[in-house]
Amino acid sequence: MLKGSPGLIDLLDRPLRDLRISVTDRCNFRCTYCMPREVFGADHVFLRSDEVLTHDEIARLATIFVSLGVHKVRITGGEPLARPGVEGLVGALAGIEGIDDLALTTNGARLARKAELLREHGLHRLTVSLDSLDQAVFSAINDVGFPVGRVLEGIKRAERAGFESIKINMVVRRGLNDHDVVPMAKYFRGSGHVVRFIEYMDVGATNGWKREDVVPSEEILRALDAVYRLVPVDSPHQGEVARRYRYADGAGEIGVISSITQPFCGDCSRARIAANGVLYTCLFSSSGLDLRSLVRSGASDAELAATIRSVWAARADRFSEQRSAADPTRRRVEMSVIGG
Ligand code: SAM
Ligand code: SF4
Ligand code: SF4
Repeated sequence: MLKGSPGLIDLLDRPLRDLRISVTDRCNFRCTYCMPREVFGADHVFLRSDEVLTHDEIARLATIFVSLGVHKVRITGGEPLARPGVEGLVGALAGIEGIDDLALTTNGARLARKAELLREHGLHRLTVSLDSLDQAVFSAINDVGFPVGRVLEGIKRAERAGFESIKINMVVRRGLNDHDVVPMAKYFRGSGHVVRFIEYMDVGATNGWKREDVVPSEEILRALDAVYRLVPVDSPHQGEVARRYRYADGAGEIGVISSITQPFCGDCSRARIAANGVLYTCLFSSSGLDLRSLVRSGASDAELAATIRSVWAARADRFSEQRSAADPTRRRVEMSVIGG
């Protein structure tokens, strides 16, 4: 049994609390801001199945991370529901003592089929990415013509399956879906689901990000407040990335994630394991630690824990706070590999 590691902090005094695990680099969407089809086309080389961590390897690493202070785990991708048998992995992670918050982020395409199975295997919290309710806009974003109605059906099935929390993530891009902010809020008001409006980020190197495309959260809040009065909500959770607001009339909550205009590096307690087993300590990292090789070369739990501890102890990442000073030519890992 591994011992806990109270007091594990990085160079900026930030504890290790959250772990995001990308379980595949594949996806059935080609969202223009994440996996543009000019780059992720028919000739793109995805990871081979033997290059991706197995369920057992993921569960083992998660257990070690828990011994180092992690208690929140999120399964992501690529599209996690595109990984065959992902519910088995959910079950394995749900069984790890010390993970008190297990969540999964999905594009919702396969949710109608998978929601009950995921719930039965112990998943409590879901985040569904949905950038527009307008079919033409949604198609232009996912770039595969996926019907928005099927994502909404997936959300309904998840409601019926009894998830504790279902959040909706909307990445807002100027001139593309900024006019959909109020309709999105209106649709989910009163449903119990919190919509989080996310500033478009410069993750990876393939999405052609431009600062002008970012819609600052303040602008989103003003647009919403003009229609529904919003009241700020204090968050008790350290490391929470969303700023929360409630509707004054009691119809629920929304959140904004302002990675560009109000970076939250000071509170960032997240580690990320990419589908190929590389550990990254920042969403904007260009390199990481190859845990897969360590695991497959027979490292013991204690050796793995010591290595991860030393990586975290040397961490000084705060890319979003330093963005304007960052080298624009530096290669960064893609969102679909590292997981959002
Ligand atoms: N495929 C799943 C999905 O779309 O929910 C999980 C992986 S996806 C990479 C995780 C989240 O990252 C999604 O909510 C997606 O909208 C968000 N995302 C991807 N690229 C982004 C970008 N450039 N800026 C902000 N959010 C982004
Ligand atoms: Fe796929 Fe999610 Fe990226 Fe869209 S955001 S391409 S659904 S991984
Ligand atoms: Fe965390 Fe890096 Fe994002 Fe800052 S830029 S909040 S350190 S992931």
